[in-house]
Amino acid sequence: MIELKNITKLYGEGGRKVIALNNVNVKIEAGAFTVILGPSGSGKSTLLNLLGGMDRASQGTMSINGTDVTDYDDHALSIYRRDVVGFVFQFYNLIPSLTALENVGIAGQLHHHGHNATVYLEEVGLTHRKNNFPAQLSGGEMQRVSIARALAKEPKLLLCDEPMGALDSKTGDKILLLLKAAAKKSKTAVVMVTHNAEFAAFADKVIRLHDGKIVSIDEKEKRV
Ligand code: ADP
Ligand code: MG
Repeated sequence: MIELKNITKLYGEGGRKVIALNNVNVKIEAGAFTVILGPSGSGKSTLLNLLGGMDRASQGTMSINGTDVTDYDDHALSIYRRDVVGFVFQFYNLIPSLTALENVGIAGQLHHHGHNATVYLEEVGLTHRKNNFPAQLSGGEMQRVSIARALAKEPKLLLCDEPMGALDSKTGDKILLLLKAAAKKSKTAVVMVTHNAEFAAFADKVIRLHDGKIVSIDEKEKRV
């Protein structure tokens, strides 16, 4: 479990100072699908970046399974990102010159466990597309490849920044179900950022942000 306490994030100096996060308190649980919902500029990506060890808070503390990681240095953060965190981006970030299977295999090489890339591509229903290059795939298929790549790392924490942002709503729903299934199956903490309130219906927990502040936290423990 990741716990953020009294987190404030400031950008810039003096009159140009921006309060991206304002005294935020959040708990992220393993096996849960958490959605961070808010309009553009509300601090969603900032919060995701802090959770992923890509940035540090200006104030407040962060702990992971009870270990205080607030003062982790660059080296410790890079190990955390490498060993613990998986990322899914809005525009997939696949390598154009590698096939779907090879794109997934890249993440698998970072981490040593029993499975190979084929297993993860099968999990997202793309075995039949394994030898295709990204340019030969639809947006939804590319996003599924990028999810397979993230899952191949077997991350404890999977962070997704607007992963359906470039997809139609039907394809987006499929992506969401896939992410939610991943959370349940491997006890991963999946955190997804979106500005689209429709997607909150899938979540175990919905954190609403506005102007850097949390306006509500809605837990739906019994949701299927
Ligand atoms: P969201 O993802 O919800 O659109 P962000 O977390 O990207 O919001 O941004 C929150 C606020 O912080 C915005 O006002 C944004 O302009 C500002 N901000 C984000 N990153 C930076 C940065 N690197 N430098 C200065 N301001 C930033
Ligand atoms: Mg953002």
